[in-house]
Amino acid sequence: MTAQHVSSTLAEPNTDLELIPAALRRIRARFATGVTKDRTWRDQQLAGIERMVRECEKEIFEALHADLGKPEIEALSTEITYVANDAAHARKHLSKWMKPTRVSTPLVVKPAKAEIYSEPLGVVLIIAPWNYPFQLLMAPLIGAIAAGNCAILKPSEVTPHTSAMIAKLLPRYLDPTCFEVIEGGVKETTKLLEERFDHIFYTGNGTVGRIVMRAAAEHLTPVTLELGGKSPAIVDATADLDVAAHRIVWGKFFNAGQTCVAPDHVLVEESVHDALVTRMVAAVREFYGDQPQDSDSYARIVNEKHHDRLVKLLDAPGKHEVACGGTHDRSDRYIAPTILTDVHDDSPTMADEIFGPILPVLAMRDVDQAIARVNAHDKPLALYVFSSDTATQEKVLAETSSGGASVNHIWLHLACPELPFGGVGESGIGAYHGHHSFDLFSHKKSVLKKPTALDPTILYPPYTDLKTKLIKKVL
Ligand code: NAD
Repeated sequence: MTAQHVSSTLAEPNTDLELIPAALRRIRARFATGVTKDRTWRDQQLAGIERMVRECEKEIFEALHADLGKPEIEALSTEITYVANDAAHARKHLSKWMKPTRVSTPLVVKPAKAEIYSEPLGVVLIIAPWNYPFQLLMAPLIGAIAAGNCAILKPSEVTPHTSAMIAKLLPRYLDPTCFEVIEGGVKETTKLLEERFDHIFYTGNGTVGRIVMRAAAEHLTPVTLELGGKSPAIVDATADLDVAAHRIVWGKFFNAGQTCVAPDHVLVEESVHDALVTRMVAAVREFYGDQPQDSDSYARIVNEKHHDRLVKLLDAPGKHEVACGGTHDRSDRYIAPTILTDVHDDSPTMADEIFGPILPVLAMRDVDQAIARVNAHDKPLALYVFSSDTATQEKVLAETSSGGASVNHIWLHLACPELPFGGVGESGIGAYHGHHSFDLFSHKKSVLKKPTALDPTILYPPYTDLKTKLIKKVL
């Protein structure tokens, strides 16, 4: 398949709203039987996900390609194989994660054993976005299963092929009594949010994140909000510019810039600005050729609405110069990989998260100015620093706050399953991946176990002067 054959003919999915409370009642009753607490049940579900990915790889890829024109390598590395590896990682560590953790006890409660038990929360709701529509539904689901939960899953209606594929395949590979896929958009999500869940895991934009959190507050339901933001890449004068240019261009134009952790813009020391831009423009040509529209390695914009939104950002006379790209074709939902220079502060590209293949490059006097600029805005989901100087790397990490960061690369920190992935401030609440997902979907129950052979009376009334003296010594 080539990237040009993007199809968007599938209608937005629709679910009978009355099914939602009934499905939740049924799943809640099933959770109450305790079936999900069993390690074997959890392992079987995770193995089912691995099997589904193995057996249905082609079907999963075709759905992703139809929705986003995803190149095969991008679909494999960040969605298909990613999910299989994530499930395998959870299976490998499941027994260890499930074991109670022993902690120390103070003298006053000795002899005793203090432990943290992980218990499942119950029925969780997972609401996914459209940019990595398979991974961002399945990865939280893997954590929820590992922790022993049932789940209702709401794929994004913006990627209808992937939504339909998930609704068709998941019940074949998972215990259908414990999981339900509800397809649909605002109407269905609004109905879901009226119900009481034991956790809501939402990935998407901050506006809907607020809607989710407000609805969750009605039931005192805890939320995880995986949001976005304008993630900067800082490049200083000591950076290896060839490597920086290749990595920034790769990380930005992967999935046509529709990645929550893509570098939104580049802040580069002015002494190396021109050299970096020249190298980035060359990297675009090297990766996608003279006609990126003909490249099998370049994805498409998810729909016309987002295409129009991005074209509007480009249509800002006098607010920037185009170093490369700038062209588009609505009928193909194509926007060329675009690098902008001389970007004014009031350029529309600098207002909200770009979330598309447009990369403004801003010259900074020095790293201090770049840091000040980052700190003058909302805390981003990711931050990148390209520098050969470890002191500068550490300075940027210490003086800025972001959900995560990579040094001398773009978003590879996400590929480490034991690094927590999540935002801070406007970029989100909570973090997952690896055992962090298990912890997120578990209640950590404090348990103290005391022997009965000894039962000192020091704590019991009547409170005497001697007991007071002893308590002062022991506490
Ligand atoms: P989206 O439009 O697919 O929305 C996400 C989910 O919210 C969908 O399931 C949708 O049905 C639901 N939704 C939409 N409007 C709603 C409403 N009014 N009420 C209730 N539910 C509603 O995805 P999006 O928000 O356009 O995704 C893009 C954003 O997500 C970007 O900001 C990006 O940075 C962020 N994102 C973050 C991460 C992360 O892991 N932190 C990952 C991917 C995307």
